[in-house]
This record gives sequence, C-alpha cells and structure tokens, in this order.
Amino acid sequence: MPAKSKQPVFESWGRYPKVDCHVAPLFWRDEFPRGTRLPPAVLAVGMGRSYGDVCLLEGGTLLSTRGLDRFLHFEPSTGLLRCESGVTLAQILQFAVPRGWFLPVSPGTKYVSVGGAIANDIHGKNHHIAGSFGSYVPSFELVRSDGARMVCSARQNTDFYCATIGGMGLTGLITWAEVQLRPIASRKIRYEGIKFSGIDEFLSLSSSGNHVEYTVAWIDCISRGRNFARGIYMQGDHSEIIEPKNISREPHLAVPFDFPGWVLNRTSMRIFNELYYRKQLRHHATRLIDYEPFFYPLDSILHWNRIYGKRGFLQFQCVIPWRYGRDGIVAILETIADSGLASFLAVLKVMGDRPSPGLMSFPQPGITLALDIAIQPGVTFPLFDRLAEMTRELGGRLYPAKDARMTGPQFRAFYPQWRQLSEYRDPAFTSSFWERVTGDA
Ligand SMILES: Cc1cc2nc3c(=O)[nH]c(=O)nc-3n(C[C@H](O)[C@H](O)[C@H](O)COP(=O)(O)OP(=O)(O)OC[C@H]3O[C@@H](n4cnc5c(N)ncnc54)[C@H](O)[C@@H]3O)c2cc1C
Repeated sequence: MPAKSKQPVFESWGRYPKVDCHVAPLFWRDEFPRGTRLPPAVLAVGMGRSYGDVCLLEGGTLLSTRGLDRFLHFEPSTGLLRCESGVTLAQILQFAVPRGWFLPVSPGTKYVSVGGAIANDIHGKNHHIAGSFGSYVPSFELVRSDGARMVCSARQNTDFYCATIGGMGLTGLITWAEVQLRPIASRKIRYEGIKFSGIDEFLSLSSSGNHVEYTVAWIDCISRGRNFARGIYMQGDHSEIIEPKNISREPHLAVPFDFPGWVLNRTSMRIFNELYYRKQLRHHATRLIDYEPFFYPLDSILHWNRIYGKRGFLQFQCVIPWRYGRDGIVAILETIADSGLASFLAVLKVMGDRPSPGLMSFPQPGITLALDIAIQPGVTFPLFDRLAEMTRELGGRLYPAKDARMTGPQFRAFYPQWRQLSEYRDPAFTSSFWERVTGDA
C-alpha cells in the first residue's frame, strides 16, 4: 500500500457530511492491494463530485484515483477508448473532440472520473434516448482486496460487471475501463430554448422533443400562483456543419472563499430566479452554441460550491415513475415552495426506458427533479426528510450520488436489489453512505 498522505479531509461536492478519513493516493494500477498492511476499511474515490457521502468513509481510507490518469489505447476507426479509471471526462473531451468523437453520456460537470461515472452509472441530458453511462462501458478491470484482478464485461465475470455499474464503489477498485465514444462533426450544438408555464407545458414539450438528443429544463421552484413551475426548456443536437473542433476552454473564474450564510436567502434566490427566467427575452430562441456552455454551464466557475458557505448544501434528486409522475412532481414542487427554502439550481428532465446493465442504477422511466438547497439548521433536513418520504410514497427513488439524508428503510425500498449488491461487495470496501443505509438492516 502507498503511504497515507497528510491530507486529513476529503470533501464531497455538497461539503456535507464532514468526515474524518485518510486519503491514500494511487499512481499505478498494480499498487492496490500490495503488502500486508491493507487498512480494514477502504473506498476508491475519483473527483469527489458526488454531493453526499457515497464517496466518503468515516474513519477509513480513501483510495484516490486521481493519479490513475493515463490513456491506454484509442481506436480511431471505432471510437473505442481504453483509459485508467482516474481519467476525467474533461480529459476525454479534450482528446476526443478535436478527433471528431464525443462522450456517449455526460453529466452536468465534466470534472468527474471514469471510475466515478461507472460506479454511479451516471446519466445525462440524453437519457431518454441513450440511457446511462454503463451502457457504453464494454469492459473494465476490477481489483479486489484479496488481490484478485478480474476483467468484467457482458460476457466475462458478468455478475461483477453488473454489480459494479452503479455499485457505488463497493465491489472493489476499477483500475481501467473501455468507453465507447460517439462520432460528431462539429463541437457546436444546435440549441433551442423555449419558455414554459407549468408542468403540463413542460410535459408536452418533452413529448414533442423526444427525438432531440439532449433535453433538460430549468425550473423556477420559488414562485407561486400563475408563475408556479415556470421554466425554460432547453434542447439541442450536435450540429452537422463540419468545422474546426480544437478550441479548448478552461474555467476562468473561481469562487475564492466561502460565502457567508446570509447571502443565499429567499429574496436573493427569488431575484436570481426572476433574472434567469428573463435572461431569454423571447419565448422561443434558437442558436448555434459551443458544447461547453450547453453541457457544463457551471464548470466555468471553479469551486462554485463555496457560495453555499461552510455548512454546505444538500441536493435532492428523485425520479418519479410515469404512473404518478405529473401529480407527484407538482406535489413535491408545492412542498418545496411552501417550505420557505429556495434553490436556484432546479432541473427537470424526462428519463427514458433504455435499461442499464447496472444492478443498482438510479434512472427509471419517469420524471426526474434535481435541486440544491443550502443547509440551514432546523429547516433543511426536515424538508429533505419529507421529500424523501414523498418520493417513497410515489413509488420513485432517490439518487445515492446526490444524497446525504435517506434512511435505511427508504434506501431498501428504493433499491430492493441491495441484498444482491451486498453479495458482490468486497469485504474491505464500504462507504459512509453504505453504513448509513444498511447499518440498521
Ligand atoms: C455540478 C454537478 C453536476 C452533476 N450532474 C450530474 C448529472 O447530470 N447526472 C449524474 O448522473 N450525475 C451528476 N453529478 C454527479 C456526478 O456525476 C457523480 O457523483 C459522479 O459519480 C462523480 O464522479 P467522481 O469522479 O467525482 O466520483 P466520486 O464522487 O469521487 O465517487 C463516486 C462513487 O464512485 C466510486 N468510485 C470512484 N472511482 C472509483 C474507482 N476507480 N473504482 C471503484 N469505484 C470508484 C466511489 O467509491 C463513489 O461511490 C453531478 C455532479 C456535479 C458536481
């Protein structure tokens, strides 16, 4: 095992919970497990872009994969890339876009690792057409704490392949993976933004736009009355116009310090929501835009999570199945608006029915809602607890990658297949999340 670094704390993106753990950086694929001094509890981590405790391990050792950042092979005729698990989606884009290839699935930030993308089986704006990331990972290597190394694919070690996709890092360390990229002609996106008022308009835009590859909606979750659930529906396809693809953009702004708690209050959020809604003047706007602002609008500001202050924030992300989708989302949005708490980053999207190879994958057909709320003592947790319970009553589920609050009974209702995952869990691997949601089982 490599020597433990002095860094005492590893924070997840929401900066809650704060846990005490050691970080052991890995630089070579054969570094783990080596020797006999294997810590009793370990967890592989990538970029720490999960919001809650799925990438944390109280009192344990985090195997940081940031040093496993090498490309191993690229097949230019098919777009099949093999890389180490700490390679980020940003690195892949920088390499692939100038060569006419793009990620098959991308989340709202490019600063996530391939290992993290597999372990949470991430989804993106094209879920309704493409499904989740795991569908584009033909194979990977999984290393267990007893030294076993397995190549996993749909034909080889299939049970570990399925358990690891969406398996939250509990089955072992992924050292490398293959990712099937998709071809593009241009780095530009044919963008269309359409203002909508209310869930029914959102749903009708979603059904008429379901042939468009990327769709998502920003929703105002503060306003009530006639502005309730208004928003901007954003959709786009890769442009077919052939043009240079090698302009690289890196973030140029950074939040330099933690904002004081009073900055984000209901009034400032209301103003933000109003301005955001009005930033698009016309009801319907179309233009050709670069893929970076389309996919990663927040990545242009480094450390934007500091605006929520030192206490951090929670993200709520649920998916509600179609059976209760419309009314369920309305009820959830009403509960949020009534709570007096506010969010300026609320996103609504329809999820498709393409099945994932992953055993524990979050997406399911229906409507997903994601929003961030700053932690305020005495109010934020009760709201999240209520929203989690509503999600359960509506037959939906919460996304572990975004969670810091769901209870054991809720988790086990959302993911009844958790017992199967526990059969494939490596005995040395666990996480604060896993301990929280299975500790009382
Ligand atoms: C701004 C923002 C927008 C986001 N948008 C989306 C979105 O649209 N869709 C979506 O699905 N997610 C989204 N996310 C969440 C993010 O994509 C996931 O949490 C992702 O898993 C983070 O990757 P990471 O490299 O930071 O992994 P970490 O957060 O460090 O770890 C995540 C999980 O992966 C495991 N893991 C990491 N590396 C390995 C490895 N090598 N071997 C085994 N297990 C490993 C960890 O144990 C942990 O369980 C967003 C996050 C942010 C901050």
